[in-house]
Amino acid sequence: MNDVIPAPPVPRLAVRGGGHFPVHRIYCVGRNFADHAREMGATAPASKAERGTPVFFMKPADAIVTGEAVPYPPATADLHHEVELVVAIGRDAPAGVLPVEDAQALVYGYTVGLDLTRRDLQAAAKAKGLPWDTAKGFDHSAPVAELVPAAAAGELGARVLELQVNGQPRQRAPLSDLIWDVPEILHELSKLYALRAGDLVFMGTPAGVAALRPGDRFEARLEGIATLRGHVEG
Ligand code: MN
Repeated sequence: MNDVIPAPPVPRLAVRGGGHFPVHRIYCVGRNFADHAREMGATAPASKAERGTPVFFMKPADAIVTGEAVPYPPATADLHHEVELVVAIGRDAPAGVLPVEDAQALVYGYTVGLDLTRRDLQAAAKAKGLPWDTAKGFDHSAPVAELVPAAAAGELGARVLELQVNGQPRQRAPLSDLIWDVPEILHELSKLYALRAGDLVFMGTPAGVAALRPGDRFEARLEGIATLRGHVEG
């Protein structure tokens, strides 16, 4: 290889039990809990038949934060937390659309993360019909806990996803409230992208999103699987 600059490092997540998971892409799902869709002023589907297609956006792979300290980002006065189930893909999807019934076989493991959002920039973008990239895909916008292999995690079922900030509850919902579950989301993503080993999927957040300020401490939990503890610098 004759790189003309040093190759950027590959972002990696620690895996419970040993080893590291190299991150390829980070896909995110918007509006995947009805109560959050409503709090953001969107209409929530009344039934699966009416849910349409999921909202997707991306973050750069090197947006992950694996330490406890999260820098307060520039260019915002309204940084928001969104606690989310994070799914790690361990195998490349075959060519073509991935059937829902084959999707689970691609999953390497699960963890919990925060989809940090510059809510003020997102609101301005939405008002003008512009993309969300600067609101969502900024540096250090994806704190994540260690990755837990699916075999060790067990079934997701109705496990609770929750977030406390400074010891106070902010967000809490069972995964059974997801509008689109994990196999359904992987199926939908496969219509748009070639899923690859190394991809992460942030599955969307329940209601209760609110501001994180410098000095705040957060604790996010995916019941019985993973805990993410950290603080906002400042
Ligand atoms: Mn989100």
